[in-house]
Amino acid sequence: MSINRRALLRTGLTVGALGATAGLARPALAAPAVGEPQIYDTRNWGARPPNGTIQVLNQRPTFIVVHHTAGANSTDLSLEHAFAISRGIQNFHMDSRGWIDSGQQLTNSRGGFVTEGRHRSLEVLTARNRHVMGAHVANNNSTCIGIENEGLYMEVNVTTRLWASLVHLVAYIAQQYAIPTSRIMGHRDFNATLCPGDVLYRRLPELRTAVGRLLGAPVSDPDTWPLLRPGDTGAKVLAAQHLLRARGITEVPLDGVYGPAMFAAVQRFGVRDAIPYEPCYGCRHDDESGLLGASGWPLLVRPVQVDEPDDVGKAARILLDAAGRRAGTDTLIDTPTWRSLLR
Ligand SMILES: [Zn+2]
Repeated sequence: MSINRRALLRTGLTVGALGATAGLARPALAAPAVGEPQIYDTRNWGARPPNGTIQVLNQRPTFIVVHHTAGANSTDLSLEHAFAISRGIQNFHMDSRGWIDSGQQLTNSRGGFVTEGRHRSLEVLTARNRHVMGAHVANNNSTCIGIENEGLYMEVNVTTRLWASLVHLVAYIAQQYAIPTSRIMGHRDFNATLCPGDVLYRRLPELRTAVGRLLGAPVSDPDTWPLLRPGDTGAKVLAAQHLLRARGITEVPLDGVYGPAMFAAVQRFGVRDAIPYEPCYGCRHDDESGLLGASGWPLLVRPVQVDEPDDVGKAARILLDAAGRRAGTDTLIDTPTWRSLLR
């Protein structure tokens, strides 16, 4: 792999310094495993200036978060369209959300073109040691760098070009910040949202594998909470209903059905416990305030013994039965066990 000028600058060496080593053993320059992808900056796509100061944190981000914009699945795969998408998101975030700039650091189009989102994101990513504070994952923006992928991926797959550019981009970010594959996440791993869509979310293990292969890094998947939504039925919903009752949301039915009453109960729980409501705001948003996901479960579950007669104990027994698992009556269901039972 050729060593580009940027890589040289990064290592603190210059072409002159390399030349001075003539006759000596060549310094062992660790060539990056993944070259820098082409990222079009905010000037390229005609961004508006930010409406405030971009906050740059003196730390690296520790998670890479995959989003979908939840917008149309355009058949226009051109660079100009990628630029138009970037402008559309920025306008939406500044004019409708009232943010100072685009929320996400990076945008990936269906044509596979990557653009800078929030100003300074590219400069800071290249320098490797700091993080542009964005607005894309409630309560986690100081640790997460986010990629908005153009489109809606609840039922259809991403384009081949989008996937290829996403793999390259995520691998590059992971390399820049030494982020392990287990920290490549979907938006729904932080907030109760359908983002990045069921189809793209299901491909995250494949993304981690592809990135791990490119970087020669170990591949592992994170421990995650499930996302429950209207239409779901069964043991997980019934367990959630018992857990809500245990937390004082007594109006919730105990029918194992995620209907309007369950949606309303989760909404009430979210408001009462001040769970940040931040669905994906790429360019539109549905009402996701009654979904139960990563932000709600940790507040619902608590360590419990299997034989406890209250609603938490009942929830644990429902999940154990559904999983076909037997446990002694004095078995303690701790948070990792809850998570594995809900998987
Ligand atoms: Zn999102």
